[in-house]
Parts: sequence; C-alpha cells; structure tokens
Amino acid sequence: MSLFELRDVSHFYRGVTRAALAGVTLDVERGSLLALLGPNGSGKSTLLRVMLGELEASSGSVMYAGRPSNERSRREVASEIAFVPQAESMAFPMTVRKLVEMGRYPHTGILGRMGSADREAVDLAMERAGVADLGGRSMGNLSGGERQRVRIARALAQQPKILVLDEPTAALDLHFAMETFELMSELTEEGSFTVVVATHNLNLAARYATQLILLCSGRIEASGLPSEVITAENIQRVYRWPVVVTSPADLGPRKGAPQVTPLSLGPDHKGR
Ligand code: ADP
Ligand code: MG
Repeated sequence: MSLFELRDVSHFYRGVTRAALAGVTLDVERGSLLALLGPNGSGKSTLLRVMLGELEASSGSVMYAGRPSNERSRREVASEIAFVPQAESMAFPMTVRKLVEMGRYPHTGILGRMGSADREAVDLAMERAGVADLGGRSMGNLSGGERQRVRIARALAQQPKILVLDEPTAALDLHFAMETFELMSELTEEGSFTVVVATHNLNLAARYATQLILLCSGRIEASGLPSEVITAENIQRVYRWPVVVTSPADLGPRKGAPQVTPLSLGPDHKGR
C-alpha cells in the first residue's frame, strides 16, 4: 500500500479560473525520497498542501495510509508529518532553541512541559540540522541559510514519519544544500521514513531522489526514475531553455545520475 495515493486531483483557488493542479495522479511509496520539480507557478506548493490536507482537492481523491486524507485528525497529521514551508514570518523574536522546541508541541501540547525525551529529541534534531551551536541566538539575526536549517531542525524535533519540505535549499550555499540532500537521503535509507521535497535543484534531485515528478501548469509532465524524468527533451520543454544532459561518472556513490547544464545562447540570439 502506498503512503499517499492521489487520483485525478485538481485544485482551483477561489476566484481563479485556471487550475493550479489538473488531473494529478501519483503514488508515494513509504521509504521513498520524492522530489517535485517544475517551474515557478507550476503547482508544487499547491500539491504539497493538498497532500498535507491543508488544501482540499476540488476534485479527485487524496488518500493517506489507506484512508481519505480529510478523515484524519489534525493531531494525527501533526504527529506523523512535519512540514517545512517555503517561507514564514515570525510573529515575535525567539531563540533558536525555543523555535526547535516548538517541534515538540504535537507530543507535549502547547502548554506541556518538556521532559528529558523531548530535550533529547531537540538536541538530536539540532545536531542533525547543523545548528547545535546556534541555540541561544535570536531567530531575528540569523542568515537566511541558518534560519532555514533551524526550521529543518524544528521539523526533525517533531520526530515525524514523513518530512515534507518546500524548496529547503533555496537559501543555502553549496555546502548546506549538499548536507540537506545527504540528510534527506540518510533519513530515507532504512526504509520507513519518507521525504517529499519541492526543489529547483534539478541536479541534486537527480542524484538523491528515488522518484521524481516534473510539474508544468498544474499537470504531471513526467514521473519516474531520475533517468526517465531528467532528459534534455523534458527539461527543455518545461523550462523553455536549451540544455544538455550528461551522466558524469565521478559524482561519488551516485555516479551516472543525469545532470543538467543549461546552454548559453550567445550574442546572436534574438529574443525567445
Ligand atoms: P509553485 O510552488 O510551483 O511555484 P504554486 O503551487 O505556488 O506553484 O502555484 C500554482 C499556481 O497557483 C500559480 O499560478 C499561482 O499563481 C497560483 N496560486 C498559488 N497560491 C494561490 C492563492 N493563494 N490564490 C490564488 N492563486 C494561487
Ligand atoms: Mg512554491
């Protein structure tokens, strides 16, 4: 049984005639690292929110663990699925450790006390996300990349079974983008933890993800293994830019993954 089963799912935002999602059918297997690709506005965030049950599908069905997702309680979702949204504003300044501790709320309740198991989960999450040294700092004066890692730590502190991230590496430098993909991959390696990530990082997705979905205008343009989805034809069509796709042999353990290089058009190119 798949963890998530979406069948012919469409979503229309209120007052918008164009579908943000149109006829999306997909299965997410437990233990997979699913990367959601697609240009800006292609429906990635909408699809994540429909999977999470934050948005209701306008038509079609969304099942989670064999049950319609709208039959799940908030508490059930919160204890199993951690979501790192694309961006969020903080209502008031808070220390890094306090923010990561918020990840424990589904377990302790908002007014609940942090026990030793909670503190351990927070320590471990901060360690794994590379923010153990930032505990006493205020969220307000961190760099964008540091803040992003703290939000990943908060999600891990929740000790979820599923981690859903919306463009987690957008603000991260090469080192931390790599660490984030290595971490997502490590989490899924023993087979029961599932990661769903929307990303613009085609090359890292091609190396680390076990399943790719390429969205364009709310529709699935391609899905499957990296070698099936990351082809020059698919990428050019969806991103409207010429590319070459190669399979470098020296990328470490994930050698052979398709890698995209966009072509420069040069001075002779007139308009597109
Ligand atoms: P992506 O995450 O791939 O950039 P989104 O899922 O955010 O794409 O958006 C898909 C489409 O839905 C876009 O056309 C976007 O403008 C539209 N959209 C997103 N959020 C809303 C909203 N709250 N109200 C109306 N339209 C929205
Ligand atoms: Mg988005």
